[in-house]
Amino acid sequence: MDDLRSLWRVQPRERPDLDAIDPDADDGAPKKKSRLEDASEELVERLADLQSRLWAERRRSLLLVLQALDAGGKDGTIRKVFTGINPQGVSVHAFKAPTEEELEHDFLWRVHHHTPRAGEIAVFNRSHYEDVLVVRVDELVPETVWRPRYESIRGFEQTLVDGGTSIVKVFLHISADEQADRFRDRLEEPDKRWKFSTGDLEVRKKWDHYQEAYSDALGETSTAASPWYVVPANDKKYRNWAVLQILVATLEEMDPRFPEPEAGLDDIVIV
Ligand code: ATP
Ligand code: MG
Repeated sequence: MDDLRSLWRVQPRERPDLDAIDPDADDGAPKKKSRLEDASEELVERLADLQSRLWAERRRSLLLVLQALDAGGKDGTIRKVFTGINPQGVSVHAFKAPTEEELEHDFLWRVHHHTPRAGEIAVFNRSHYEDVLVVRVDELVPETVWRPRYESIRGFEQTLVDGGTSIVKVFLHISADEQADRFRDRLEEPDKRWKFSTGDLEVRKKWDHYQEAYSDALGETSTAASPWYVVPANDKKYRNWAVLQILVATLEEMDPRFPEPEAGLDDIVIV
């Protein structure tokens, strides 16, 4: 398989200009929509195979960090990308506004506990990055507190990598117009209304602040060992395909293997 990860990767410590990245881009994808879906189906199967090897090997793990603005598609991505995977080896954790107890600890305390154990894939739906995003935009703590967190995050993620975890961080990049369309959808469709929160409109007003906070965070914390990927995400099919490409390429590079079977199995006859 071609390794297309460089299409979306944020170069180490290079601040991406999100305005210059088209959320409608479809770089690298097969041009026909039907081909895109076929390609994704194939990738889903490859992912399932690689995950079963990772699980059986039980030596290393994978962490997928998903960040996006409201209606950015985090939930949909998780649902589609991990279809067909053995649920035993995957955990998904959504990080909401911290509880009182969580606030009484350092900002990494609550995430560390949910990092994947050997053999597992863990998915973070939002993550420790909220502590340099919403926390910054809403001025929940002063800059003297949030700015040093970039360094803490780099150190924390390096610790995970040193312990055998591969890290993939994906920012789902949508346009303000696409977000408005998705909010309208949520309002209009009875089955989606529960997803609508008036608070999301307050966050939407701070769109530019968030883009800036994201650009800084991605640039400060994309490293060779723990890279960020900016995935154009207005088109859901392209988004799913791109995230699958990134995950499959990462796992293929890890090359997990089934453990060696016990010696002498050939002579065994089950009676
Ligand atoms: P959906 O896209 O379905 O709305 P969501 O991820 O936005 O899903 P919500 O429960 O709507 O889920 O939102 C979680 C909220 O928690 C977000 O507004 C997010 O910014 C906030 N949050 C997460 N981590 C922190 C944090 N460390 N400090 C403050 N707020 C946080
Ligand atoms: Mg929300």
